[in-house]
Amino acid sequence: MYKIVVVPGDGIGKEVIAEGVKVLQAAAEVEGITLDLDYMELGSDRYLRTGELLTDEDISFIRQHQAVYFGAIGDPRVAPGVLEQGILIKMRTAFDQYVNMRPAKAWHPYTPLKGEKNFDILFLRENTEDFYMGAGGVLNGKEAEAKMHLKRELYTVDLNLSSSVSSDEEFAFEVGMMSRKGIERFADYCFKAAERLGKDKVTAVDKANVCTSLYGLWREIFDAKSEQYGIPVEYMYVDAMAMALVRSPERFGVVACPNMFGDILTDLGAEIMGGLGVAASGNICPGGVSMFEPVHGSAPDIAGQGKANPIAAILAGKIMIDQLGRPDIGNMIEWAVKMAMKQKKVTADMGGTLNTVQAGDAIAELVRQAR
Ligand code: ATP
Repeated sequence: MYKIVVVPGDGIGKEVIAEGVKVLQAAAEVEGITLDLDYMELGSDRYLRTGELLTDEDISFIRQHQAVYFGAIGDPRVAPGVLEQGILIKMRTAFDQYVNMRPAKAWHPYTPLKGEKNFDILFLRENTEDFYMGAGGVLNGKEAEAKMHLKRELYTVDLNLSSSVSSDEEFAFEVGMMSRKGIERFADYCFKAAERLGKDKVTAVDKANVCTSLYGLWREIFDAKSEQYGIPVEYMYVDAMAMALVRSPERFGVVACPNMFGDILTDLGAEIMGGLGVAASGNICPGGVSMFEPVHGSAPDIAGQGKANPIAAILAGKIMIDQLGRPDIGNMIEWAVKMAMKQKKVTADMGGTLNTVQAGDAIAELVRQAR
């Protein structure tokens, strides 16, 4: 039995998660397992009604589960950033989901890449450090001081910058920081993933030729972990990586990225795979509570019209069941998605004629046939 919190969220999140649950339930029936699903209201409606985002009670409730299956949040009535910071970022931090996982496979014929390129990349992005730690400020005037107090799962850091500026010039800064412990636990995850998937190397992305301190430590640790696991590490500068991903994505297996470069490259990965309709992700805390979601947002422009493609949410469910220890069920769901695409049982954005519910029904039916 798997205990899962389901958060449909806003806009098309509600529509696609309903289909994802349908497909997961079909797979559970076929395999004779039980999914114990608890629904939770998070997102704009609750926020506008009560002012609550992700409360301490919500966090305690989620803690009693193994995973969170999440739709999308976002609403034109709420200022940008409020829901994202107060719900998504808070959840990642509260549960220390330090790995962002985004598989990128070529979904023919939806990949925009020319030719029959077949690739199967697992993008892993460090999800808590680097330039996204919130360590920034503005220095005004000749003498300035900036202090920051950052509390993380692994450490607490007090950053004190005092500066004297030769003019009244104004400076803004954002500090990229990574801790040894943070890189080590992330690198462990990457090499273990390569081991599990039978990949012959880990490609580590950075910009070590420019940000020498930050990515110098990154390389030192990846070198050591490569030796420890007996799996080669290949380094790629992020700019070269962007080109290589378009030209020859089949070269890569496990791709390890620091937070900011990972943010950008995983969107490139989503696009070469076939776009937002098929891109799914997991925010992973190994041994803890992880959260699985489609990459797309709430898409208010098409919400409530039955136009949303449920495949990304269904594939997020596949990643979740993989991570819960049943990759055999995950493979069955992926097979059903592939068949649905082949048989054109898809929504209009993929050239089909089905609405969201019909597309979900078709994939659930294929899962039942997979047996
Ligand atoms: P948010 O601010 O919540 O991220 P958004 O609308 O700005 O939402 P996305 O939802 O990520 O951004 O998507 C951008 C556009 O892509 C949408 O407006 C929609 O037209 C299209 N789109 C996204 N997801 C899907 C989907 N599952 N099926 C069909 N079209 C989609």
